[in-house]
Amino acid sequence: MNEVKKPKRPLIFYYGIAMLVLLLFNFLAVPGIMEGKIEDVDYGKFMNMTENKDIGYVEIQDNRIIFTDKANEKIYQTGIVNDPGMTERLYNSGAKFSKEIVKEASPLMTFIFSWVLPIILFIAIGQFISRQMLKKMGGGNSMMFNMGKSNAKIYVKSSDGIKFSDVAGEDEAKENLAEIVDYLHNPKKYSEIGASMPKGILLVGPPGTGKTMLAKAVAGEANVPFFSMSGSEFVEMFVGMGASKVRDLFKQAKEKAPCIVFIDEIDAIGKKRDGNIGGNDEREQTLNQLLTEMDGFEGNTGVIILAATNRPESLDPALTRPGRFDRRVPVELPDLKGREEILKVHAKKVKTGPGIDYMQVAKMASGASGAELANIVNEAALRAVRDNRELVTQADLEESIEVVIAGYQKKNAILTEKEKMIVAYHEIGHAMVAALQTHSAPVQKITIIPRTSGALGYTMQVEEGNHYLMSREELENKLATFTGGRAAEEVVFGSVTTGASNDIEQATKLARSMITRYGMSDDFDMVALETVSNQYLGGDSSLACSAQTQAKIDEKVVELVSAQHNKAIQLLSDNRAKLDELAKYLYENETITGEQFMKVLNA
Ligand code: ADP
Repeated sequence: MNEVKKPKRPLIFYYGIAMLVLLLFNFLAVPGIMEGKIEDVDYGKFMNMTENKDIGYVEIQDNRIIFTDKANEKIYQTGIVNDPGMTERLYNSGAKFSKEIVKEASPLMTFIFSWVLPIILFIAIGQFISRQMLKKMGGGNSMMFNMGKSNAKIYVKSSDGIKFSDVAGEDEAKENLAEIVDYLHNPKKYSEIGASMPKGILLVGPPGTGKTMLAKAVAGEANVPFFSMSGSEFVEMFVGMGASKVRDLFKQAKEKAPCIVFIDEIDAIGKKRDGNIGGNDEREQTLNQLLTEMDGFEGNTGVIILAATNRPESLDPALTRPGRFDRRVPVELPDLKGREEILKVHAKKVKTGPGIDYMQVAKMASGASGAELANIVNEAALRAVRDNRELVTQADLEESIEVVIAGYQKKNAILTEKEKMIVAYHEIGHAMVAALQTHSAPVQKITIIPRTSGALGYTMQVEEGNHYLMSREELENKLATFTGGRAAEEVVFGSVTTGASNDIEQATKLARSMITRYGMSDDFDMVALETVSNQYLGGDSSLACSAQTQAKIDEKVVELVSAQHNKAIQLLSDNRAKLDELAKYLYENETITGEQFMKVLNA
């Protein structure tokens, strides 16, 4: 495999440094290097100085004569002239013969300086740069914990270890993860009965909702090591590195088990593999390695992998298969109460004045994520400092909402009051139509916090058990439920909005299927009007009928939907008081559970 060797501390590196030191020594020790100081003179001057007994030292070389003045202050050189009496005259003048005025660079030295050293330096610098690059890409040695290649950041429990209590709101997610903590505390309890923990848990939700915090909190609560790595870190490097990093990460994790491995932005490696030839090989290799590793260890090793993503739909289905990331924990944007709690948690870190109404701030910051709320508190504190105040006030908090939200240029812009009201009615409309028809499943939870998917509201329905067979009535009720949102808008506001586009799509699809695939219309009996090419892979279908029939199908689809639409309008008009009451409740609280909903409805 493409095991990438950790670059050993290259000998040559030290060698280069040693040579550099040597070179410096030579600079200082060898006067020859200072040849620039030697003054060229003509032979006449040399003869004159000899005559005048002005010469201190003299050195006669093969091709030149080097000499100093009496005070040894200056060095001169001159060429060789055929002058047989010169030596004698010099001797008589009292000049001292020397061999060492200027040290000749030996041929070996010359060779080293002009060839070997530059090459060594060149290599050493090259090595240094590549090491730096490797380090930057995470391939180098993490010095802090000596973690080897994977460079996973290990988070060891410390006094400030994050606990569940630090994560405000997100109660459902915490409940879900508490089981993991319990397992890590007491794995025996689980293994004795033969239960194994899910190996992988996917934390799904928009950015800044506390996914990383929750993962850390699991490790903190269970008091186990925490390895964290971001999906993008795996792929942003040379080919083959990603896979080897995954292998390494798991090797370390197994050694340190029980522990938590957290992979942030898993979509960076886990994107759907699109059968394109020449796709991103590196990513695919990394993903394959991850899958192999996950399959490779038993459920009871004590290594639990948490991964975060805000685009679960883009994940490769192989990742979410049983035995891999088979549990999904939604981590949604906080509702009103959640926002208030988050604000309070973060406000503890700053000095606040008396009488701050967090609920009011939370109301104004509808749609903000946990990270944004944390930032709002911080901005408020900065504002207080700017104004030379010592305490954060209500006004600071309210002012900074705008700063933070505008700064982020939120895509899912915060709803205006009017929009919020419409969305509340729309969602209650769906839920009421569902609940008022006996066959429809009761709602579990309704929220009007903008969702990752772009939907403004969200009605969570629980199906009663597994439904394999749906009757015509049930499907019709479902159709009515789809139209319930729009129906509520019509009943209450007398006008319609774009908010129903998704409902329309779903209703149309269902109505069309009822007619063309399930034989639920009186006109076509049990004739298949549509062929489904591959039922297990998406189910692309094409109509298999004449143009006239197609036109008739279109007509029937409209008929079917509008009948249910009218039914929904009727149901809501008949229960207008309840509709208003529930919408008001949802508008004010942003969330309503199924239980509360049914209580109001049946009151
Ligand atoms: P994610 O991983 O979902 O993008 P993080 O866990 O990194 O989000 O959260 C970023 C920051 O936002 C945290 O460090 C924390 O200060 C703040 N934050 C987010 N959610 C919460 C929460 N539920 N409670 C308290 N603080 C939160």
